[in-house]
Order: sequence, then structure tokens, then C-alpha cells
Amino acid sequence: MKVVSVVGARPQFIKLAVVSRAMAAAGDEAQIAETIIHTGQHFDPEMSEVFFDELGIPQPHYNLGVASLGHGAMTGRMLQAIEELLVELAPDWVVVYGDTNSTLAGALAAAKLQIPLAHVEAGVRSFNRAMPEEINRVLADHACDLLLCPSPTARDNLQAEGFTPGPDLRAGWPAQAGAEPYRQDIRRNHPLAVLVGDVMYDAALYHAERGRHASRMLAALGLEPGGYCLATVHRQENTDQPGRLSDIFTALAELADDHPVVTPLHPRTRARLAAAGRLAEVQKRLRVIDPVGYGDMAVLEKNAGLIITDSGGVQREAFFYARPCLTLRRETEWVELLGAGHVLAPGGAKAIVESARRMFGRRPEVDPGPGPYGDGTAGEKIVRLLVGARLV
Ligand code: UDP
Repeated sequence: MKVVSVVGARPQFIKLAVVSRAMAAAGDEAQIAETIIHTGQHFDPEMSEVFFDELGIPQPHYNLGVASLGHGAMTGRMLQAIEELLVELAPDWVVVYGDTNSTLAGALAAAKLQIPLAHVEAGVRSFNRAMPEEINRVLADHACDLLLCPSPTARDNLQAEGFTPGPDLRAGWPAQAGAEPYRQDIRRNHPLAVLVGDVMYDAALYHAERGRHASRMLAALGLEPGGYCLATVHRQENTDQPGRLSDIFTALAELADDHPVVTPLHPRTRARLAAAGRLAEVQKRLRVIDPVGYGDMAVLEKNAGLIITDSGGVQREAFFYARPCLTLRRETEWVELLGAGHVLAPGGAKAIVESARRMFGRRPEVDPGPGPYGDGTAGEKIVRLLVGARLV
């Protein structure tokens, strides 16, 4: 079976690592040949290469080098290049991940060539069409044959949009599945939404078990466990509105008077702060560092007294590591977290500071039962579905 994975941005490399590893683990019997297309959307070594090295992802077979363009030009160039490659490669499946322009381009290219298409992290919705990510994920989902949902909410969202809800595989396989490979018929023109769990949870468990979270980050930054805030900001709605960006960094600077605030700065955010003439001041007040690798980030998250973020992945990791999380958004796609120590912070600087002070150091009360995101084997389930699914 030939699978083409299309990725281009940091969170996609982390998700790809899980599925790629599961493909390799499926062994010779499954006869999976994976080809990785990197669109080039994220190109800084610390946003791309570092993840391939650290997470043991096979080197991309193709790098399209499409980056630093407007949404239309970027998506269009990717679409054209991916289509040419897919014609040549003629895969049995194309797999896309998450919600970036690379997701949309990969999905459109596959759908137009009538190549079976699967989306990892399908059904995630903010219901805010002002977000480019929302447009990308809605359109990618509607081009798909197999929608791989990370949470019950995601599958419910797809059902509400008219998709056929498939099984909940988080706790295992239906008894009737019998011997491997798992057989799942998908009716043509009736895409199927299967609940597999969140590959980000697989990643967190896998690397924790292997001690990859050992890192010298805290010592290097002179931080005490539980004694600092970890902040990440990169969503366009926060970086590209000068008033909002200013509010967030004013709040973080004020919080830095209480505790160190560590900020691995995303390239876009760095550029916007520089353009606003605030970078030097922010660097003085906060512990601004370059984006870090996956293991270092996990250590920073696990030991933070509070995580402040607009990232989808970091929100879930805060939950996996039972840290309080202030989400710098008006809404979240991960609504199940709102009852588990997560609070939204849509307001101005004062409101952010007040919420953060209230939440700092408060370990969320997390339900000890099976979580919404599965049991850490979503990657394996995805691969068994790809092997066993038939379009009928
Ligand atoms: N991440 C990382 N280094 C950093 C910041 C984030 O490894 O400096 C990881 C983070 O732990 C999570 C993923 O990147 O696994 C989230 O990616 P991002 O915030 O870019 O995108 P989103 O999840 O919002 O789509």
C-alpha cells in the first residue's frame, strides 16, 4: 500500500512522527510504503529540521520550498506541486494533518485526482471563520473519505455537518472486527468520521516513556519547577492585531514582575513585535528564547506554574501534564478542556493578568477516568484503518 503524507508546519511534524512510526511498526506484512512531502511552509531549522531529527521522522522525500507567501499564492503553489507529484506517485491514500495551508493544498490535490484522502485531526472546529485554520480544516474535511477524529466533540461536529459517524475506537476495536487488518467499508460519496483519539496524546506518552523529556532547559534558564509561566503566542488573531498583541505582551511583562515568564518566540510573533518596536523591551522583561525542540518544550510545560498560550497543541499538552492553562483566545476547539483547569482569556491586559494570577500554581482537578483523547494508540488505529478501509 502506498501512502503519501503531506506536511509543512511544526505541529504537523509532531503528528506525522506518530503515524509514521505506527506505519513502520506495522511491519512487512502490512507492506506500507510511505512517501513524505514537506511543502516547506515552516523552513527555519528550529521550526522544522529539529523535529525530523529529534522525533526520528524519515527525511521528506520531497521538499517543495513554498513559504513566506500570502495564503492564496502559498496554497496555490503547493496545490500545483503536490498534484504533479501525486500523479507520478499514484498512492492508495493521501494523509493530511491539522489545519494549515499545507493541509488544504494536500487535500484539494488528492480529492481532484480522486485519490482516497484521510485527515488526521478531522472535525476540530472553532466556529470562527475569521481564523485561516478554520477555513483550512472545514474545506479539508469536506474533501475527505476518511475523517480521523481526535475527540468526541470533533466527531459530533462532523455528524452535525452531515458526515456518517463511524465507530469510537478509543477503547479498542469493535468485537466483530476479528483478525487484523481491521475492515472498514466506506461508501463512496459518504465519508466516514471515525473516533480514533488524539495523536498528540500518543506523542506525549511515547516520549515520556522513553525519557526523552530529560532536558537541561530548567537549569539552563535558571528556573525552579513550578516557579514560572510558560507563554506561547502565534495565532494570527493575536499577532496581526496590534492592539491585541500589545495587550498580551503588556500582560506578560506585568506577570514577569511576579514570576519569570519564559517565551519561546514564534518567528511571526518576533517579526510583529519588532515591527511594533517592542521587541527589545519584551526581551528585557521576559525570558525570550528561540523556539525549542519537542523534548525541551515538554519539560518546560510539565514544570510550569501556569501555561499561557494560543496554541492548540500546547493547550492539550497542558491537560496531559495536568498544568493550569490560560488560553489567549475567545473560543477554543478543545472545549472539553474548559472543565479541566483551562480558562479563556479574550479580554485586555488587565483581565489576562488577573486570570493568570488567580490560576498560577493551581493544579487542575482532572477526571482520573479515560480521557477524551483516547489511550495513546491513535496512531496505530489510524494505520490499521488505512490498511483495512475499502471504498465501496
Ligand atoms: N512546540 C515546540 N517548541 C516550541 C513551541 C511549541 O516543540 O517552541 C510544540 C508544542 O509542544 C506542541 C506543538 O509544538 O507539540 C504545537 O505547535 P504550534 O503551537 O505551532 O501549533 P498548533 O498546535 O497551535 O497548531
